[in-house]
Amino acid sequence: MTSPVYNRVALIGLGLIASSMFWAMKRGGLAGDVTGFARSEATRDTARRIGLCDRVCDSVADAVADADLVVLCVPVGAMGAVAQEIAPHLKAGATVTDVGSVKRDVIDAVGPHLPEGVHFVPAHPLAGTEHSGPESGFAELFDNRWCLLVPVEGSDVDAVAQLRALWEGMGANVDEMDADHHDLVLAVTSHTPHLIAYTMVGVADDLRRVTDSEVIKYSAAGFRDFTRIAASDPTMWRDVFLTNKDATLEILGRFTEELFALQRAIRTGDGEHLHQYFTRTREIRRGIIEAGQDTAAPNFGREAPKA
Ligand code: NAP
Repeated sequence: MTSPVYNRVALIGLGLIASSMFWAMKRGGLAGDVTGFARSEATRDTARRIGLCDRVCDSVADAVADADLVVLCVPVGAMGAVAQEIAPHLKAGATVTDVGSVKRDVIDAVGPHLPEGVHFVPAHPLAGTEHSGPESGFAELFDNRWCLLVPVEGSDVDAVAQLRALWEGMGANVDEMDADHHDLVLAVTSHTPHLIAYTMVGVADDLRRVTDSEVIKYSAAGFRDFTRIAASDPTMWRDVFLTNKDATLEILGRFTEELFALQRAIRTGDGEHLHQYFTRTREIRRGIIEAGQDTAAPNFGREAPKA
């Protein structure tokens, strides 16, 4: 039996990421005792019913008291208010971390509330699904996925090392990154693709009214993949775009330029341009599979839908 990385962990917000962390910590014996808090009674009741957390608390103060690690697992736009609420109840020497998909905004919103003697080590696990809520989590979510730690100026090296050990114990590969760089990289790999998926599904929805649900009935794999992404939590993604504004707009600008170039190639019949472009993008897919970040199995390894 390995010894826990932290004696007491508090999870604030009990959705997909928090519940996956709880099951992963249990799987690895990484935390002695885990408390949890969510703002709604419904979520707390569900958590109690399914055994999510060793103790579900009715107040955030109770949840964080005595915790060695406090993990903020709420939407990015709510991080600042939650930090302000927990601040007076944090134990000296505790570490506060978060799992938000945007880092600069969270650092600016959370950092100023934390008292002297509490360590702040922001983090972002690059793993998720389109599901949310306390029942959506599972222990394997972080296996072989990246978790980026984004230490702030003066972050305590031991506190960073301890958090790294927790994420590694939960199955993740860990890297460190600067906040602004993180936000730009994620704008390319996650945020802008989500926006494009939302747009494509929105366009199809408009069309659906014209074609009387043919878009749904004959939905091909490409569109189905977009719909999965576009089913992601509206609150979480609203906050991502509002807080990673500059990087997303920068990448969207580049995207629009490329789209115009492809549009022109189609209009002018420039097959060479299209072929070269698609050859280049295919290489990126190969790279992702070689890096072990996806499967080469047909249909992304999913079972065929039942007829
Ligand atoms: P989720 O399943 O929707 O759960 C969100 C939790 O936050 C719920 O417990 C909810 O409480 C609580 N919450 C919502 N709004 C709040 C507010 N204004 N004040 C206080 N609590 C609030 O979300 P999630 O997918 O776990 O995401 C949590 C964080 O992880 C987000 O910052 C997100 O950016 C980040 N993240 C998500 C993914 C992903 O793919 N989903 C991946 C990596 C990182 P109630 O249940 O009581 O409403």
